[in-house]
Amino acid sequence: MSLQVVLVEPAGPLNVGSVARLCANFGIDGLRLVAPRCDPLGEEARRMAVHGVGLLERASLWPTLEAALADCDRVVATSGRLEGPPLPLLPPADALAWLLEGSASPQADPAPQSAGAPVALVFGREDRGLANGELLQAGRLLQIGTGPSYSSLNLSHAVAVVLHELHTLRRGERSLAASPPPAVSAGGATVWADPCRRHDLEAALADAEALLLEVGFLLPHTSRARMAKLRALLQRAQVSEGEVALLRGMVCQLRWASRRRVSSGSDT
Ligand code: SAH
Repeated sequence: MSLQVVLVEPAGPLNVGSVARLCANFGIDGLRLVAPRCDPLGEEARRMAVHGVGLLERASLWPTLEAALADCDRVVATSGRLEGPPLPLLPPADALAWLLEGSASPQADPAPQSAGAPVALVFGREDRGLANGELLQAGRLLQIGTGPSYSSLNLSHAVAVVLHELHTLRRGERSLAASPPPAVSAGGATVWADPCRRHDLEAALADAEALLLEVGFLLPHTSRARMAKLRALLQRAQVSEGEVALLRGMVCQLRWASRRRVSSGSDT
């Protein structure tokens, strides 16, 4: 399992350097920077990174969050916002247990192409955090509990709290508290269904969006907002691989039927 920390458009070189140090402190495999608004290799960042400077130098740069997460399986995003997040906000231990659960055991992850897929923790901009569309890239949202009047931590402080919690869970000092995935019945026996791969969900959403635009359910100017609602629904439901395949099958059949009707309509 490879654990990646992703910073979206960080503006403070001191924060970036501090996060690189934290990644080294807590054994994180890689740092991904999405369109940084500062020089991540400048003097200030290096000074804060101390023994994390190697990690800082190896940090990869990405133009968008989607691109940075394209190879990731499970993703947890973090938010200090108390209002308006599109998915429930979980305490760190619950969200992180889910992140580790999907990646820790080879039995839970038998697909050879995804056995080594990284998992990611996403942190937002210092000034405005992550937009709803970005939060919806994640399967779980995490919030560090604070006093009610001021919930927003400094970026690197938030990373410190989350990575410490992750470290505690990985060392087995706290039990994995995440709720089990939904039970499904397979041939009479009840088994736990793993949530589908992130990549499969993205592909199903892209398929559905293309069809819904084609048949006029979505219009170019409404598509973003409506697809965000659908995405929120599917992320909340933690759909399994079988369920996502069912959705794709439905979309595929509907596309075929609608094209057939159009072409037979034009024949008459
Ligand atoms: N006004 C912004 C502040 C962002 S602070 C907001 O509330 O979203 C920068 C980043 O630090 C956030 O995007 C998030 O990744 C992290 N962060 C700050 N406070 C947090 C909290 N209480 N719980 C989880 N993450 C937090």
